[in-house]
Amino acid sequence: MALNDYIRNIQDFPKPGINFKDITPLLNNPEARNECLQLLVNSLRDKKIDKVVGVESRGFFFGMLLAQELNVGFVPVRKPKKLPFSVISASYELEYGTDTLEIHTDAIQKGEKILIHDDVLATGGTAKAVAELVEQLGGEIVQFNFLMELAFLNGRNKISQYKIYSPLVY
Ligand code: 5GP
Repeated sequence: MALNDYIRNIQDFPKPGINFKDITPLLNNPEARNECLQLLVNSLRDKKIDKVVGVESRGFFFGMLLAQELNVGFVPVRKPKKLPFSVISASYELEYGTDTLEIHTDAIQKGEKILIHDDVLATGGTAKAVAELVEQLGGEIVQFNFLMELAFLNGRNKISQYKIYSPLVY
Protein backbone atom coordinates (compact mmCIF):
# COMPACT_ATOMS: atom_id res chain seq x y z
CA MET A 1 0.00 0.00 0.00
CA ALA A 2 1.11 3.56 -0.64
CA LEU A 3 1.37 6.18 2.10
CA ASN A 4 -1.69 7.88 0.71
CA ASP A 5 -3.71 4.74 1.55
CA TYR A 6 -3.17 5.47 5.26
CA ILE A 7 -4.83 8.89 5.04
CA ARG A 8 -8.59 8.58 5.47
CA ASN A 9 -11.01 11.12 3.99
CA ILE A 10 -13.83 12.11 6.32
CA GLN A 11 -16.56 14.09 4.60
CA ASP A 12 -18.22 16.98 6.46
CA PHE A 13 -15.83 16.92 9.45
CA PRO A 14 -15.60 19.03 11.58
CA LYS A 15 -18.15 21.11 9.57
CA PRO A 16 -20.34 20.52 6.52
CA GLY A 17 -18.39 20.99 3.29
CA ILE A 18 -14.97 20.08 4.74
CA ASN A 19 -13.19 16.95 3.56
CA PHE A 20 -10.99 16.18 6.57
CA LYS A 21 -7.77 14.24 6.11
CA ASP A 22 -7.57 11.78 9.01
CA ILE A 23 -4.01 10.69 9.86
CA THR A 24 -4.94 8.12 12.53
CA PRO A 25 -4.59 5.10 10.15
CA LEU A 26 -1.01 6.27 9.46
CA LEU A 27 -0.27 6.56 13.20
CA ASN A 28 -1.69 3.07 13.71
CA ASN A 29 0.60 1.30 11.20
CA PRO A 30 4.28 0.99 12.15
CA GLU A 31 5.61 0.36 8.62
CA ALA A 32 3.73 3.27 7.05
CA ARG A 33 4.58 5.49 10.00
CA ASN A 34 8.27 4.69 9.68
CA GLU A 35 8.24 5.15 5.90
CA CYS A 36 6.74 8.60 6.42
CA LEU A 37 9.25 9.42 9.16
CA GLN A 38 12.20 8.40 6.96
CA LEU A 39 10.95 10.59 4.09
CA LEU A 40 10.82 13.55 6.49
CA VAL A 41 14.29 12.74 7.86
CA ASN A 42 15.78 12.31 4.36
CA SER A 43 14.58 15.79 3.42
CA LEU A 44 16.82 17.12 6.21
CA ARG A 45 20.04 15.44 5.05
CA ASP A 46 22.98 17.87 5.27
CA LYS A 47 20.88 20.37 7.23
CA LYS A 48 21.85 21.11 10.79
CA ILE A 49 18.81 21.19 13.09
CA ASP A 50 19.05 22.20 16.76
CA LYS A 51 15.38 21.80 17.70
CA VAL A 52 12.05 20.60 16.39
CA VAL A 53 8.99 22.76 17.06
CA GLY A 54 5.71 20.81 16.93
CA VAL A 55 2.27 22.38 16.72
CA GLU A 56 -0.62 21.32 18.99
CA SER A 57 -1.86 18.78 18.74
CA ARG A 58 -1.36 16.62 15.66
CA GLY A 59 2.06 18.17 15.10
CA PHE A 60 3.22 16.52 18.31
CA PHE A 61 3.11 12.97 16.93
CA PHE A 62 5.70 13.15 14.16
CA GLY A 63 7.34 16.23 15.69
CA MET A 64 8.47 14.13 18.63
CA LEU A 65 9.48 11.20 16.39
CA LEU A 66 11.58 13.60 14.31
CA ALA A 67 13.23 15.12 17.38
CA GLN A 68 14.10 11.62 18.62
CA GLU A 69 15.44 10.55 15.23
CA LEU A 70 17.55 13.72 14.91
CA ASN A 71 18.60 13.53 18.58
CA VAL A 72 17.59 17.15 19.24
CA GLY A 73 15.20 18.97 21.57
CA PHE A 74 11.43 19.13 21.05
CA VAL A 75 9.45 22.31 21.69
CA PRO A 76 5.64 22.28 21.87
CA VAL A 77 3.64 25.22 20.51
CA ARG A 78 0.30 25.15 22.27
CA LYS A 79 -3.13 26.72 22.45
CA PRO A 80 -3.55 29.50 25.04
CA LYS A 81 -3.29 28.78 28.78
CA LYS A 82 -1.75 25.31 28.36
CA LEU A 83 1.92 26.14 28.89
CA PRO A 84 2.83 26.74 32.55
CA PHE A 85 5.97 28.93 32.26
CA SER A 86 6.22 32.45 30.74
CA VAL A 87 5.06 32.58 27.12
CA ILE A 88 4.84 34.75 24.05
CA SER A 89 1.75 34.57 21.84
CA ALA A 90 0.85 34.98 18.19
CA SER A 91 -2.67 35.34 16.82
CA TYR A 92 -3.93 34.53 13.35
CA GLU A 93 -7.13 34.87 11.38
CA LEU A 94 -9.55 31.99 10.97
CA GLU A 95 -12.55 31.88 8.66
CA TYR A 96 -14.56 33.23 11.61
CA GLY A 97 -12.58 35.05 14.31
CA THR A 98 -8.99 34.52 15.41
CA ASP A 99 -6.91 31.87 17.13
CA THR A 100 -3.79 32.15 19.30
CA LEU A 101 -0.72 29.98 19.81
CA GLU A 102 1.92 30.17 22.54
CA ILE A 103 5.52 29.10 23.14
CA HIS A 104 7.69 29.16 26.27
CA THR A 105 10.06 32.15 26.25
CA ASP A 106 13.08 29.99 27.14
CA ALA A 107 12.35 27.20 24.62
CA ILE A 108 14.63 28.53 21.86
CA GLN A 109 17.94 30.37 22.13
CA LYS A 110 18.99 33.06 19.67
CA GLY A 111 20.53 31.60 16.51
CA GLU A 112 19.27 28.04 17.01
CA LYS A 113 18.34 26.25 13.80
CA ILE A 114 14.71 25.21 13.88
CA LEU A 115 12.55 22.68 12.06
CA ILE A 116 8.83 23.44 12.36
CA HIS A 117 6.50 20.44 11.99
CA ASP A 118 2.73 20.12 11.72
CA ASP A 119 0.53 17.39 10.26
CA VAL A 120 -1.25 19.45 7.61
CA LEU A 121 -0.55 22.69 5.73
CA ALA A 122 -3.97 24.08 4.83
CA THR A 123 -4.38 27.89 4.52
CA GLY A 124 -0.99 28.49 6.16
CA GLY A 125 -2.30 30.69 8.98
CA THR A 126 -1.08 28.33 11.69
CA ALA A 127 2.35 27.91 10.11
CA LYS A 128 2.83 31.67 9.74
CA ALA A 129 1.94 32.27 13.41
CA VAL A 130 4.43 29.59 14.50
CA ALA A 131 7.13 31.20 12.34
CA GLU A 132 6.49 34.52 14.09
CA LEU A 133 6.89 32.89 17.51
CA VAL A 134 10.13 31.13 16.56
CA GLU A 135 11.63 34.26 15.03
CA GLN A 136 10.60 36.44 17.98
CA LEU A 137 12.76 34.19 20.15
CA GLY A 138 15.64 34.51 17.68
CA GLY A 139 15.35 31.04 16.11
CA GLU A 140 16.40 30.51 12.48
CA ILE A 141 13.83 28.50 10.53
CA VAL A 142 15.66 25.92 8.42
CA GLN A 143 12.59 24.12 7.09
CA PHE A 144 8.90 23.53 7.58
CA ASN A 145 7.70 20.02 7.11
CA PHE A 146 4.20 18.59 7.06
CA LEU A 147 2.79 15.13 6.47
CA MET A 148 0.63 16.66 3.78
CA GLU A 149 -0.21 19.85 2.00
CA LEU A 150 -3.67 20.78 0.81
CA ALA A 151 -2.20 22.61 -2.18
CA PHE A 152 -5.56 24.00 -3.38
CA LEU A 153 -5.67 26.21 -0.25
CA ASN A 154 -2.37 27.90 -1.24
CA GLY A 155 -0.85 27.74 2.24
CA ARG A 156 2.64 27.98 0.71
CA ASN A 157 1.97 31.59 -0.21
CA LYS A 158 1.90 32.58 3.47
CA ILE A 159 5.30 31.01 4.20
CA SER A 160 6.87 31.35 0.75
CA GLN A 161 10.22 32.60 2.07
CA TYR A 162 10.93 29.27 3.79
CA LYS A 163 11.86 25.77 2.60
CA ILE A 164 8.84 23.47 2.79
CA TYR A 165 8.68 19.68 2.45
CA SER A 166 5.65 17.39 2.54
CA PRO A 167 5.64 13.74 1.40
CA LEU A 168 1.95 13.98 0.46
CA VAL A 169 0.33 16.75 -1.60
CA TYR A 170 -3.38 16.99 -2.43
P1 5GP B 1 -4.15 26.22 8.43
O1 5GP B 1 -3.82 27.16 9.53
O2 5GP B 1 -2.97 25.94 7.51
O3 5GP B 1 -5.37 26.62 7.67
O4 5GP B 1 -4.56 24.84 9.10
C1 5GP B 1 -3.61 23.94 9.53
C2 5GP B 1 -3.99 23.38 10.87
O5 5GP B 1 -5.31 22.87 10.84
C3 5GP B 1 -3.06 22.24 11.24
O6 5GP B 1 -2.65 22.40 12.60
C4 5GP B 1 -3.88 20.98 11.05
O7 5GP B 1 -3.72 20.10 12.14
C5 5GP B 1 -5.32 21.45 10.97
N1 5GP B 1 -6.02 20.92 9.78
C6 5GP B 1 -6.64 21.61 8.82
N2 5GP B 1 -7.22 20.81 7.92
C7 5GP B 1 -6.93 19.56 8.32
C8 5GP B 1 -7.25 18.25 7.79
O8 5GP B 1 -7.92 18.06 6.76
N3 5GP B 1 -6.76 17.18 8.47
C9 5GP B 1 -6.01 17.34 9.60
N4 5GP B 1 -5.55 16.22 10.20
N5 5GP B 1 -5.72 18.54 10.12
C10 5GP B 1 -6.18 19.63 9.49
